[in-house]
Amino acid sequence: MIRIAVLPGDGIGREIMPPTVEVLKTIGRRFDIRFEFKEAPVGGAAIDATGRPLPPETLAVAKESDAVLLGAVGGPKWEGLDYSIRPERALLGLREALGLYANLRPAVLSAELVDASPLRRDVVEGTDIMVVRELTGGIYFGHPKGIEKVDGPGGEERGVNTEVYTTHEIERIARVAFEIARRRRKRVTSIDKANVLESSELWRRVVIGVQKEFQDVELRHMYVDNCAMQLIKDPKQFDVIVTTNMFGDILSDEAAQVVGSIGLLPSASLGDATIELKGGGRKGLYEPIHGSAPDIAGKDKANPLATILSAAMLLRYTLGHEAAAAAVEQAVTAVLRAGSRTADIAGPGTTPIGTAEMGRLVVARIEQKGAVRVA
Ligand code: NAD
Repeated sequence: MIRIAVLPGDGIGREIMPPTVEVLKTIGRRFDIRFEFKEAPVGGAAIDATGRPLPPETLAVAKESDAVLLGAVGGPKWEGLDYSIRPERALLGLREALGLYANLRPAVLSAELVDASPLRRDVVEGTDIMVVRELTGGIYFGHPKGIEKVDGPGGEERGVNTEVYTTHEIERIARVAFEIARRRRKRVTSIDKANVLESSELWRRVVIGVQKEFQDVELRHMYVDNCAMQLIKDPKQFDVIVTTNMFGDILSDEAAQVVGSIGLLPSASLGDATIELKGGGRKGLYEPIHGSAPDIAGKDKANPLATILSAAMLLRYTLGHEAAAAAVEQAVTAVLRAGSRTADIAGPGTTPIGTAEMGRLVVARIEQKGAVRVA
């Protein structure tokens, strides 16, 4: 039994989640996997219901589950609230409570959507990158931090943040990157700024040490400024990129833009906890990279594919079920190849379909394949 916490959240989160759960149920029937889904409020919806973005009941559901499927949180209704109780705080709370330190963001260019990329076809075609970003350390969390008054004219102030990494934090994220590379093209590029920062000097030294456990995987190093250029110049050179929290934040958005639409990009956040299952992997949280898109919420216009592809990552990284993950990804590819598009990816002259219809088409593809397999 695989227990999945379903946290739809706000805005389009509530529209993209039902088709995704339907996809998993269909996969369950086809591959004989038993899922148990438990839904709970998070973000603005939870604030409205309980006054808190991550109520203890929701956190308990997440902790008891093998994986968390999250829609998106936030919206104009809650923007005036104090930062400590904003919907987005729920994301930090979940990451912290579940010990999710590795953020995986694939940037894969679907052959059907080459024209959605701002780059030339010959540069971008075939791009398939996995960005592995450290999620719980680095400058976003390091101390000292804050804004303080200093002596000087006109109320001079000083803002401080600290980039800090320990050996242990670097080792565990490097290990995740090497493990993933082993299942892909066996090539890790570690991104740092070791020519300037001591924290990067340690990062590089520790990553080199971890590679000794993964001699079948090739390792190279690149400075972050060069990586920002190389992603545009020649994105196909990358397989797995591993980097710090802040560099990863920026580079993963850049890589996402290289391959086009925000409505298509999934993500996974993994920790050390493993699940009890043959072939099972790490407990994780899976979510699309986009937000709650208040401008199109409630209009059946949202693209559910990023969330559906996040469910495919759940099958791959939590269940260790490659065939089930591939079945979802192939169904999405088949639907796109047949020309079906939601409004965000519909080119001129294409009539867009809605969220629910896109979900139905993916489910139908998975069922079709199942029928062929049984026959
Ligand atoms: P957004 O990602 O919600 O939307 C940006 C643009 O992309 C909008 O025009 C939107 O319509 C479009 N878009 C996003 N997802 C789409 C989809 N699946 N299909 C079609 N179009 C899609 O970013 P934003 O507008 O900056 O933020 C809106 C709210 O979401 C804010 O409250 C923000 O804090 C929150 N947010 C949450 C998360 C999260 O839950 N992980 C991430 C980012 C932003």
